[in-house]
Amino acid sequence: MDKEKAYVLWFDDLRRSDVDLVGGKSSSLGELTSQTKVPVPYGFATTAHGYRYFMEKSGADAKVKELLENLTDVEDSMQLRDVCAQIREAIMAVKMPQELQDAIGNAYDELAKKVGEKTPFVAVRSSATAEDLPDASFAGQQDTYLNVKGKKEVIARVKECYASTFTDRAVYYRVKQGFDHLEVALSAVVQMMVFSEASGVMFTVDLATGNDQNIMIEGAWGLGEYVVQGTVTPDSFLVNKQDLTITEKHINEKPIMLTRKPGSGVIEQNVDPEKAKQQVISDEQVVELARYALAIEKHYGCYMDIEWGVDERDGSIKILQARPETVWSKKNKEKKQNEPAETNYATDRKPLLKGLPASPGRVGGKAHVILDPALIDTFNEGEILITKMTAPDWVPAMKKAKAIVTDAGGMTCHASIVSRELGIPCIVGTQSRGDAATETIQDGAMITVDATNGIVYDGLIEDLVKQPQATEQTAVAAEYFPPTGTKVYMNLGDPDLAEKHGQLPCDGIGLMREEFIWTTFIHEHPLYLIEIGHPERVVDGLADGIRKVCQAMAPRPVTLRFSDFKSSEYRDLKGGDKYEPHEPSALLGWRGASRYYDPTYIEAFKLELAAVRKVREEYGFKNLNVMIPFCRTVEEARIITDLMAAEGLRRGPDFKVWLMAEIPSNIILADQFNEFVDGYSIGSNDLTMLILGCDRDNDTVSHIYDERNLAVRRAIRHLIEAAHRDGKTVSICGQAPSVYPDFTAFLISQGIDSVSVNPDMVKATKKMVAQLEQRILLDAVTGKGRQANQEELKW
Ligand code: PEP
Ligand code: MG
Repeated sequence: MDKEKAYVLWFDDLRRSDVDLVGGKSSSLGELTSQTKVPVPYGFATTAHGYRYFMEKSGADAKVKELLENLTDVEDSMQLRDVCAQIREAIMAVKMPQELQDAIGNAYDELAKKVGEKTPFVAVRSSATAEDLPDASFAGQQDTYLNVKGKKEVIARVKECYASTFTDRAVYYRVKQGFDHLEVALSAVVQMMVFSEASGVMFTVDLATGNDQNIMIEGAWGLGEYVVQGTVTPDSFLVNKQDLTITEKHINEKPIMLTRKPGSGVIEQNVDPEKAKQQVISDEQVVELARYALAIEKHYGCYMDIEWGVDERDGSIKILQARPETVWSKKNKEKKQNEPAETNYATDRKPLLKGLPASPGRVGGKAHVILDPALIDTFNEGEILITKMTAPDWVPAMKKAKAIVTDAGGMTCHASIVSRELGIPCIVGTQSRGDAATETIQDGAMITVDATNGIVYDGLIEDLVKQPQATEQTAVAAEYFPPTGTKVYMNLGDPDLAEKHGQLPCDGIGLMREEFIWTTFIHEHPLYLIEIGHPERVVDGLADGIRKVCQAMAPRPVTLRFSDFKSSEYRDLKGGDKYEPHEPSALLGWRGASRYYDPTYIEAFKLELAAVRKVREEYGFKNLNVMIPFCRTVEEARIITDLMAAEGLRRGPDFKVWLMAEIPSNIILADQFNEFVDGYSIGSNDLTMLILGCDRDNDTVSHIYDERNLAVRRAIRHLIEAAHRDGKTVSICGQAPSVYPDFTAFLISQGIDSVSVNPDMVKATKKMVAQLEQRILLDAVTGKGRQANQEELKW
């Protein structure tokens, strides 16, 4: 057989070296089928030759060429989208040459015979040839059609795969790399469908740390797409490669799943609440998977990234895909050549205490226990800060800390937010998990903080600390970040970090908390400074910090949020005692908008406005916009925006005013708030607190506090609808999308305009958003439409 001239090739005829003939995915499935004993669903692949024949014979290539003339600037995402959509439509409109249709149809019939079924269900996936996207794992996810049945359907899906050669991302990448669009080719994998009752992915290296002692397995109910896309938080398992013991497992609630439709296609379904909480595969199945992973790694001789499924018909495990992992394979190889072998990071030392892993990383050092805020100045550079809970005026000490461990708090508390932004390891809420850090850890003791896993150990554990840190992952060079329609902003308050984090592929700053500048540069209460005759210190201090961020980010927009200190926090600023009331619940008290027009505070707010004018007018940074926090009533929105206009800050085409949507009233009355703002940013931290009635800083109720609660999701959906009706934008700057990737998927599905995440989540979110958008776009072109569970969200 002349493999070069075939339109289809069977898995047993393929080797991994056949990338040029059938692309990475198909050749890899061929290698697994023909060269290993792992169970792979059988199938065939259409070839690159077949694709080229299709393009030429059907005349599609001439049309594509013509349409590509209109693509003059790939950085113009609207243009990129339009042209690519037209190309895909043009490909879908031509007829596939009969010889190619026959070859695919005959292969399908033969597959049916081989498996002994009349019209078997298959999965059709695209597999790009080598000159196309290097990161094929990412590219491939857009173009998988599951549960396809019958010759006609298979042929139609193959054509859709062909069209997907012209996704925005692929076109952008080829232009940047100087590849000719008409040189690339696409192969479609046609593979027996696994009726997955559970599925997922596994890696033979820890992608965050590069540790290769364990196999990481993730799984959820139904088909694997939701695990790959991050739509659900899967169960995760770590299996030791030496003895195949399960060393760690985390069982999460997996409330939805993607599943086969009885006819054809797929549908999202709710998982029975009891089942949602159950471990998705048995320990025996975990070990069986690990065994396959080891065999595949051994065969390929490098770290591997593998997809798997468990067939509901007979409970058998199937390997759906395996591809070499490139980043750590290369890094660790170089490292091993230069260094002695690495030791396992798991340690048999007994944990001193446990808590919530709020910001990842591992360090060892001297503990400094501080109970009285008045003693913060005694904190030294490089110590580990142990305290009950931090507050804004602790930031200077936090910046000196190597790590932070607190008694109280959840994922949205002050210590969590700030340490993630600063990129230092942090564990919070130790008290509710057994032992309070301030009582268990001796002041001056040497300890090791493993904040990736939320554990503190007594003494220094060199091997643990020596492990590559999660942040190293962000140093991977030459990554590609596709343009996205949904902007991905970053939460950044500390001006000293603007230069560094400004390098990240974000579209701007979605939340700059003004409090950071007060605590880092000003330290004094605004009313005190007015009283002693130095209001300019507020204006200059604020303007200086804001300018740094605007400069680092320009021309990308920066959204400064006006001050949102609570009275308890303002009191800690120098001179604050005199002006700040003692409130029973500061989180529900004199904060945000209610201060700005209060006769006792209005002069201080005017200084904030003056600082904004200074940055925009004197320093010339017109990329600065503002946001009003904690605005309880429509009347407050009117008063504040009037006040701003009177001080020379009027909304206009180059100056946007956003409102934090963080109180239920903002959402219930969004139709009325719309009149006063350009858009909203959802403060999911406060919003969740106020919808569920859970104090966000109280770890006693932290198990109920969950942004993914249906009540919060319904509120968000309503806001997006109400805002869009009047042409207002909606973003989010609370912690939720930084903590739960599946929450981002939800937001995108509801049509949010932008998301703002912590610096450590920018890259992953940018990629994920691109992926989700491509999917929605492709669904629109192919008329499929994703079956999201919208019913549940209605109210
Ligand atoms: C929020 O409430 O979600 C938010 C981003 O604001 P903060 O956490 O500063 O209250
Ligand atoms: Mg808030």
